[in-house]
Amino acid sequence: MKAFEIMESMGHEQVMLCCDEAAGYRALIAIHSTRLGPAVGGTRLWTYASDKEAFIDALRLSRGMTYKSALAGLPFGGGKAVIIGDGKTVDRDRLFHAHGRFVETLGGRYVTAEDVGTSTLDMDIVRLETKHVAGLAARSGDPSPWTAHGVFRAMQAAAHYRWHSENLSGKTVALQGCGNVGYCLAKELHEAGAKLIVADLATERVQRVVNEFGATAVKPERIYHVAADIFAPCALGAVLNDETIPRLRVEIIAGAANNQLREAWHGAALQGRGILYVPDYVTNAGGIINGCIEMLDWEPAQALKKVNAIYDTALEVFALAQQQGIATAEAADCLAEQRLR
Ligand code: NAD
Repeated sequence: MKAFEIMESMGHEQVMLCCDEAAGYRALIAIHSTRLGPAVGGTRLWTYASDKEAFIDALRLSRGMTYKSALAGLPFGGGKAVIIGDGKTVDRDRLFHAHGRFVETLGGRYVTAEDVGTSTLDMDIVRLETKHVAGLAARSGDPSPWTAHGVFRAMQAAAHYRWHSENLSGKTVALQGCGNVGYCLAKELHEAGAKLIVADLATERVQRVVNEFGATAVKPERIYHVAADIFAPCALGAVLNDETIPRLRVEIIAGAANNQLREAWHGAALQGRGILYVPDYVTNAGGIINGCIEMLDWEPAQALKKVNAIYDTALEVFALAQQQGIATAEAADCLAEQRLR
């Protein structure tokens, strides 16, 4: 693996390899940019197939955080930590103490929080070793409802752009992933009168959304085939790719998952199919905006206003894409890079 070439091509400042054998801790902390402020981004705990896979994931996720904060107008750079391990078997207490010690060595250049595979309780352990951590149970707490609301606002903007009305009542949304964000999004969509088709690997999570919001459940692999108005990927990344894009029967894609496009050119492939894609880091900024309550002492009302503004950012992205004849993913990158400059 040509680590430095990959870092340079993606514009990273630093990648730290961290190891504490006694704690069973192996991690990478990637700092993409500190140009606009400290590199903020969560810690993912995942069973990566290889060190390279973990490296690439950390680099892609941290760059996404830089772009997300820049587009949301937040004074943060982008970073991300990935811990290589199985969340079911690790000793969480020792693991997150070790993680906190490594985060502390960066002296505030990187601020961590929870992400896939980690929770606010894990961050409470990290806090025992460093103050450079957000998303604590007793502070801003679970970001998922905020993230879900941001996704909802992005859908409204896309609906306005596509159908000249932001009203989602009667629209059908195919929701992939009924986890923390997916559940909250399903609730908000149901309250807005939307119909739901849902899938998750965990049957109890699907059942909850079926019972509470009258959703129709389909098997996980069927979610790409269903006829719907909107597809909302709220599970994992890389779900928009050569295999799935030709199957989609939707007009809009807006969801919470990070790095939804497997490769950058899949943005153009969606455009080619006439599907309006709201870039993931525009859509899912609600979580980090919620973090401002904790990191910047914002009032909740100020944070809510910023989450609602995801609507305007999405419209800005669509307008630029149309004006330049480019895919929305590319337009979002252009806007973020402008702000970084
Ligand atoms: P979560 O772990 O609570 O939920 C994810 C759900 O997806 C789980 O229920 C899992 O079983 C399901 N899933 C996994 N693979 C699937 C598949 N192939 N088909 C169907 N379902 C599948 O995570 P979350 O906090 O809800 O986050 C969802 C996504 O949004 C993640 O990609 C995360 O990085 C991103 N995100 C979350 C936040 C936040 O505030 N939680 C903020 C920004 C981005």
